[in-house]
Order: sequence, then C-alpha cells, then structure tokens
Amino acid sequence: MADLTCWLDLLGLLGERPSMSTLELQIIPVTPFQQNCSLLWDKESLEAVLVDPGGEPERILEVVKSLGVTVKEIWLTHGHLDHAGGAKNIREQIGVPVIGPHEADQFWMDTIAESWAKYGHAGMGDDIVPDKYLKDGDTLSLASTEFKVLHTPGHTPGHVVIYNLNLKLAFVGDVLFRGSIGRTDFPKGNHQELLDSITQKLWPLGPDMRFIPGHGPMGTFGQERQDNPFVSDDVVGAATPNSSGVM
Ligand SMILES: [Zn+2]
Ligand SMILES: [Zn+2]
Repeated sequence: MADLTCWLDLLGLLGERPSMSTLELQIIPVTPFQQNCSLLWDKESLEAVLVDPGGEPERILEVVKSLGVTVKEIWLTHGHLDHAGGAKNIREQIGVPVIGPHEADQFWMDTIAESWAKYGHAGMGDDIVPDKYLKDGDTLSLASTEFKVLHTPGHTPGHVVIYNLNLKLAFVGDVLFRGSIGRTDFPKGNHQELLDSITQKLWPLGPDMRFIPGHGPMGTFGQERQDNPFVSDDVVGAATPNSSGVM
C-alpha cells in the first residue's frame, strides 16, 4: 500500500510568496483508518515535523529516511488513536518531543492501546503523554516558518488546528473534511462546539486557506463555505444570527 503516499509541492502553489517557498509536504496515509500523517520539511535546512503520526511508525520513518530529512518535533492535532497512536514509538526511536494537542485530550491518549485492541488491531498504537500541551494562541516553528495554534473543541475537547496564514495551509485534524465535519458522538464530543470552532475560528482565517484534514482529500475553507452540507454559509447562516450570541 506504499503507493498511497502522495506528493504536494508547495513551491508550485506559492507563486506570490517566494520567500515562503522552501517548505515541502508529503502526506502518508496510515492505519486501517487511512489517517493523513503529514511530513512537512524545510528544503534548505532539511528540518522536518511530523503531524499526526497515528500508526505504522516504521513506514513513516522509512519515508523520513528516504528523503534525508531530520524530524525535529511531532505535532498532534488531537488524541484519537489514528492520529496519536504512533507518536510514542517514533519519539522513542528518534528522540524528539511530542507537542500537542490541548491537555483536555489526555483521557483519549490514555486509552489508545486499549482502543486499537477493541477495533481488532491490537499493537497498532501506544498511549502517549506529550512533552508539551498546546493552547489557543501558541506558536510552533519549523526552521524559519511559524505556525499558529487554535483550540478547536467539538470532535474532541482538546482538539487543536495548526496553521500558517502566509502559506495558506492548515492542519485541521478531524474538525473539518472536504464536504463533511468531524463526528461528535464520542465521549465529550459536542456538535454545537464543533460548529462554533469551524465558523468562529476557522472561517476568519480566510476563504483561500487550504486545509489538510485527518482523512480524505484537501480542500479550502471557501469551498466548504459554499457547498459543505454541514457548515456552508447557507446551512449555518440561519442558525447563527449576528444579533445574539444566545441560542
Ligand atoms: Zn478523531
Ligand atoms: Zn481521525
């Protein structure tokens, strides 16, 4: 299944900002849930980060090795097994800090091994305690590029989104998908909170922001505002009047 990996050269997408053109990205779908693990690196320094290495650590590290990049940090969007399950193994193998998600997701990260066993894939991932939790407004960096953090609860209470406005790139985990949104029927999930996270925290980043979701293809916020059946302007507009914050 190695052919499922796909390339996205950011250089070709950043014509008007040549100074930001040194980052490159490879998406590596991992686990039976085909979760989009992202390997993002700076082409000059070859420094890299892994976002949501949810499983299959050996396959992820093979890609890292083949590219000759050096992973400096692991960033997690939320504590679900398919996003965080490979982090402990990779941390132990290459000795880098695991950063994020928000502390409110620790209860998910305490039950990763148990959850994989329940799904019939015992050994697919490990529980993890991150080296550092993230909160709204935090900053992360890869070489000279800074990323900002938003706390976006709803799918899980400690979910975060990591984005860079100049690159027009956001790692949104399971908050938003092309044409769909994250499930909220898990413990501590909250549908209204998820809608608020999307419309009040993501949409202000602009319609041309591209997002990498936890599963499936990339999209842009503008496209979702047009046709996403859960959060398009037509759908949520009526439910969130400007006149009152009380619903
Ligand atoms: Zn999830
Ligand atoms: Zn997921």
